[in-house]
Amino acid sequence: MGARMKIVVTGGAGFLGSFLCERLLASGHDVIALDNLYTGTVDNLKGLTGHPNFTFIQHDVSVPIDLDADQIYHLACPASPKHYQKDPVMTLKTSLLGSLNMLELARARSARILFASTSEVYGDPAVHPQTESYNGNVNVVGPRACYDEGKRAAETLFYEYNRMYQVPVKVVRIFNTYGPRMNKDDGRVVSNFIVQALSGDDITLYGDGSQTRSFCYVTDLIEGIVRMMNSSNSFVGPVNLGNPEEYTVKELAERIIRLTNSRSKIVHRPLPADDPVRRRPDIGLAAAMLNWQPSVKIAEGLQHTIDYFASVLEREK
Ligand code: NAD
Ligand code: UDP
Repeated sequence: MGARMKIVVTGGAGFLGSFLCERLLASGHDVIALDNLYTGTVDNLKGLTGHPNFTFIQHDVSVPIDLDADQIYHLACPASPKHYQKDPVMTLKTSLLGSLNMLELARARSARILFASTSEVYGDPAVHPQTESYNGNVNVVGPRACYDEGKRAAETLFYEYNRMYQVPVKVVRIFNTYGPRMNKDDGRVVSNFIVQALSGDDITLYGDGSQTRSFCYVTDLIEGIVRMMNSSNSFVGPVNLGNPEEYTVKELAERIIRLTNSRSKIVHRPLPADDPVRRRPDIGLAAAMLNWQPSVKIAEGLQHTIDYFASVLEREK
């Protein structure tokens, strides 16, 4: 283990944030999770309640805060279209003001700060697979813009704090990640399909299902994030983190039906506006700079996620 640090995780009560808190505590650090519980829940942190090195603070990152910190992982932001489109202005405020406030905190405390950006900065990509040098194809007036443009502008804030004030920043672009503790009701494809399959409900395939995504299991992703945070000072990023195995959304539905032995039928629903047609990360940079690549196979990752949602549904009965 390296030196014990004080580490702030914004969005710590969310899906990725809660896994990250666990991982950092297991490495012997002091962890403060900041979250306004917009999409996250304290339930995600129940394994950590009472841990002597863990603190939870309910706080909206668009409001400034002062804390002692050596490292800041900035994850707070609604992440699924359903949630980030509910209040697009709030999504933008969270991205922009939240990032500004966390960068100011990093600057004041001489902390290292990592930003959870997204593959959505590539929009509906014209380059496949996506490399970090691709500038993207985002529709600025579309319904996804509040998220995509918020993340793009936030990335710029990170690079400029690094250039102007020498704040040590790190930017990761996360591709679709799944696993236990995904928010059951946030409309993302993996959680929707699993819950529908387990409940015997229709599986809602948007469009003809030929659009592709590449799905990374949560523990692989967390490993990449932690490696990026602790990489050499001069490596700012951006760096893609994701699993390059690409599936059509229809293949995903069929796979989940098989794994759950479900009798659910696939039904088609309209494709949402600006839904990216193809997405797959080029992870060559992460492999070279972080010696990182995902290792959990989709069948295994989906099984863990199915087991999780089965227990959630059982509890809700
Ligand atoms: P999530 O919704 O489970 O977690 C986000 C957390 O941020 C929630 O706990 C929510 O309550 C909190 N939050 C939202 N607005 C806030 C605010 N103003 N102040 C404080 N807390 C706030 O989603 P996630 O999948 O864990 O995503 C975490 C981060 O990773 C997000 O920034 C997201 O954009 C990014 N990301 C995730 C994925 C993915 O596939 N999961 C892909 C790309 C990027
Ligand atoms: N999708 C689907 N049915 C659902 C939810 C999503 O067919 O019930 C599709 C969606 O149109 C998109 C893909 O699955 O093409 C991934 O959607 P998600 O919202 O999980 O992630 P994102 O589009 O942000 O990558």
